[in-house]
Amino acid sequence: MAGAPDEQGRGPLAGEQLGQQDVTCQVFPEQLAVRKPQQGFFPVLTNNQKCQLMLLKTLETNPYVKLLLDAMKHSGCAVNKERHFSCEDCNGNVSGGFDASACQIVLCQNNIRNQTHMNRVVTHELIHAFDHCRAHVDWFTSVRHLACSEVRAANLSGDCSLVNEIFRLHFGLKQHYQTCVRDRAILSILAVRNISKEVAQKAVDEVFESCFNDHEPFGRIPHNKTYARYSHKDFQNRDRYYSNI
Ligand SMILES: [Zn+2]
Repeated sequence: MAGAPDEQGRGPLAGEQLGQQDVTCQVFPEQLAVRKPQQGFFPVLTNNQKCQLMLLKTLETNPYVKLLLDAMKHSGCAVNKERHFSCEDCNGNVSGGFDASACQIVLCQNNIRNQTHMNRVVTHELIHAFDHCRAHVDWFTSVRHLACSEVRAANLSGDCSLVNEIFRLHFGLKQHYQTCVRDRAILSILAVRNISKEVAQKAVDEVFESCFNDHEPFGRIPHNKTYARYSHKDFQNRDRYYSNI
């Protein structure tokens, strides 16, 4: 679980943390956001408050996330900030996770470093939530179902897109992108399933082609925010055409 950066398996510990989180979530992020330094008061924000503020900004401004929220709503799974997201402390270096049984996205407030990181984690986990909503994924018994969603999340969230790759000092070929998607999907599976690397690799390889080419709801691989905005526009138009039929 601690091996991969973007996944969080949920154990009993996470349940214990909920009680504490109920208290620390009694904050109104909007009020904190409008406080001005001129007032001579610099509030020292807790990790939970920072997490809530970054989440709010992600939900309101990130084009990947706005499209996914629209698509979820369109599929009958409207997302609610208070109900479907939980900022919590997590073990190891995991950044987030999708808790299918609680229909909740866990955001690891102690590990999410900045707004860009928050954008990526929320996008990644919303792709799992979208798959859960549209496809009734069998997360717990089918490694192939999980593998498919991890391939899609790595492919469509920008996890492997160029800027990320440059930062990792990887340059090069189209094939490299696919290798990145495959490797990340395998790491994500190993973070939440107690199976061997070979079994995870086999599951990813079996589903890779069809799941790598399934770009819903983006319609294309959104390598950057501009592409994500195009996708959002296309999705809205598609919705409009369908509703006129
Ligand atoms: Zn994932």
